[in-house]
Amino acid sequence: MNVLVTGGAGYIGSVAVEALLNDGHSVTVFDNLSRGHRAAVDPRARFVHGDLCDVVSLENAFAGERYDAVMHFAAFALVGESMQRPEIYFRNNVEGGLNLIEAMRAHGVRRIVFSSTCATYGLPERVPMDENLPQRPANPYGESKLMLETILRWYERLHGFQPVFLRYFNACGATARYGEDHDPETHLIPNILRVALGQADAVPVFGNDYETPDGTCIRDYIHILDLAQAHILAMRSTATGAFNLGNGNGFSVMEVIEAARAVTGHPIPIRFEARRPGDPPRLVAAAARAREILGWKPQKADLRAIIADAWNWHRAHPRGYAG
Ligand code: UDP
Repeated sequence: MNVLVTGGAGYIGSVAVEALLNDGHSVTVFDNLSRGHRAAVDPRARFVHGDLCDVVSLENAFAGERYDAVMHFAAFALVGESMQRPEIYFRNNVEGGLNLIEAMRAHGVRRIVFSSTCATYGLPERVPMDENLPQRPANPYGESKLMLETILRWYERLHGFQPVFLRYFNACGATARYGEDHDPETHLIPNILRVALGQADAVPVFGNDYETPDGTCIRDYIHILDLAQAHILAMRSTATGAFNLGNGNGFSVMEVIEAARAVTGHPIPIRFEARRPGDPPRLVAAAARAREILGWKPQKADLRAIIADAWNWHRAHPRGYAG
């Protein structure tokens, strides 16, 4: 298939691009490089430097191509930042997303696999979380993703779009070539590995008084290669609607640190800090729908194996894509 991948220079997008190319698809990456890296774009892909908020550059990505599908990763994705600067989330994620789907409509492309998030649910009523939970986002990031889901549902009804919403839990891990390089880095596993690399003294643990067995937050960590596979399966299928993507196993912050100690052999000191605003205590996926309808089977569910892949990438790229 001929696929347009927005945000293909970012963490999850870069790995999806690599997997698509390995699978024999043609790929155009569209990215403004505001948070992604040119070096993260697989050299086998065509690259268009452009911004979703600039319709002229978007037109350049569509001109002369007949795409079978779009994978839409490009977005701002930090909960904390979205509470400080909601306007950039609504502009980039919602307005930019609308520009993209209008360009799709103009060019007759109707299949879109959209990177959504478990943050669209807000504080869940029950865990593990299936797709029928009410969506009540607790921050502008989750709201911006839900807004684009809603717009896409209308495009499904009115314009024959075939949207799939992949609601990720905690993306992590790496391939040999592509890994996680954010500035500033806010995610748990890279922050832990920074300590193991000697680039920081201790990992801040945000809150140890949650109602969980060890008092720290529980998350469902899913390897980006498994996420990439889910995108390819979703693109190929005729299914529409939402799929939660996680392993269904919850690990606390302390359990992740313990696993990283085992993988790296480093003592990884910690420092307890205040809770991070907006962090729900427990987010774990029920991903039966993705298994049953898409035939998705995560291959890299073991937390230590996930951390080992991330560790290998960070050791090979101690300054991220800068070196
Ligand atoms: N966390 C932490 N220290 C860090 C980074 C994250 O204790 O340096 C915690 C965070 O509060 C949350 C969990 O680790 O409970 C996962 O956070 P991350 O930012 O990786 O992903 P999120 O769940 O926010 O998408």
